[in-house]
Amino acid sequence: MKKIVVTGAAGFLGSHLTRDLLGQGHQVIGIDNLSTGKRTNIEDFLSDPNFHFIEFDVADPRILELMELDGVREIYHLASPASPKFYQAAPFETIAVNTIGTQNMLELAKKNNAKLLYASTSEAYGDPLVHPQPEDYRGNVNTWGPRACYDEAKRMGEVFCYEYFTRFHVPVKVVRIFNTYSAGLRNDDGRVISNFVTQALTGQDITVYGDGSQTRSFCYIDDNIRALELAMEKDEATGEIINIGNPKEYTILEVARMVKRLTGSESNITFHPLPQDDPKVRRPVIDKAKKLLDWEPAVDLEEGLKRTIAVYRQRLTCLQ
Ligand code: NAD
Ligand code: UDP
Repeated sequence: MKKIVVTGAAGFLGSHLTRDLLGQGHQVIGIDNLSTGKRTNIEDFLSDPNFHFIEFDVADPRILELMELDGVREIYHLASPASPKFYQAAPFETIAVNTIGTQNMLELAKKNNAKLLYASTSEAYGDPLVHPQPEDYRGNVNTWGPRACYDEAKRMGEVFCYEYFTRFHVPVKVVRIFNTYSAGLRNDDGRVISNFVTQALTGQDITVYGDGSQTRSFCYIDDNIRALELAMEKDEATGEIINIGNPKEYTILEVARMVKRLTGSESNITFHPLPQDDPKVRRPVIDKAKKLLDWEPAVDLEEGLKRTIAVYRQRLTCLQ
């Protein structure tokens, strides 16, 4: 049994990861300030004696004084708003959690000789000029726009990891996560899969931004969680940046049509202005993950959407 910290434990990825780690018999300390996460995401295991929840801001330095954090072996630093809707509403908090918050967690790792995995993002590549994106592509990020608070904060979080790895030999692992989804996303999360599925099931217009020709590559949650755990486990991943995502690429209009077909919805597909700096293409090169983690995704978009739709449908029926 290991003592593991998960920051962002009440969020989408964090709650799935926590459930999985508890299932393996580990002790999990979940830290979350509930800014975008929800207590309902963790209520199933709040009474589990191996789960300890701390409602706290990881960017607050007092986090290091918390006695329960002694003896920590692994830290998954996932705390950060992730949906453009939420990080653009809280730019300074987004910058703080990915910079100061990352440094706080690296200090905790240093003090405890613990491993740290940092959830970076495909947004580190910005609106990419190289396609698909390998880890050594340095990106095309605009510092002067609404996505910068997230993209640049994540890039700076990577820099903190680099410095703690090279100066203090903290075993860090940086994963650049590409669009990940499941029914664990809040209905009001604002990201594309949760929007489209909620809209299709409730008969609202399916809102495509721009002409829908921009692309994304969608990874199902189970594949993502398996990759995060492998990255934490494997020594080969130490001091590395690794793309985690599904390399099958779709246009957003294709996704809208697929959701409409799979839900049997009568909703109209409508077109709206494309948000500023919205990346035009995104697809990971995952050769490094295959080689270092012996990992590749198993769930394709159609299968993942069917699972997602089934749960959303049930949830929306319960709300009626
Ligand atoms: P989410 O918004 O569902 O979860 C983030 C969690 O972090 C929330 O529970 C929130 O309350 C918590 N949090 C935010 N600021 C905090 C702070 N200062 N202190 C403590 N807790 C804080 O988002 P998610 O999709 O689960 O993303 C998790 C991580 O993975 C994020 O770091 C995100 O940037 C990264 N990521 C996710 C995706 C994806 O597709 N889901 C893609 C790329 C990167
Ligand atoms: N998008 C859309 N309609 C929506 C929500 C998002 O067309 O209701 C588009 C968005 O403009 C982007 C893509 O879907 O091109 C993915 O958006 P999301 O916010 O899920 O993640 P991003 O990859 O942009 O961070």
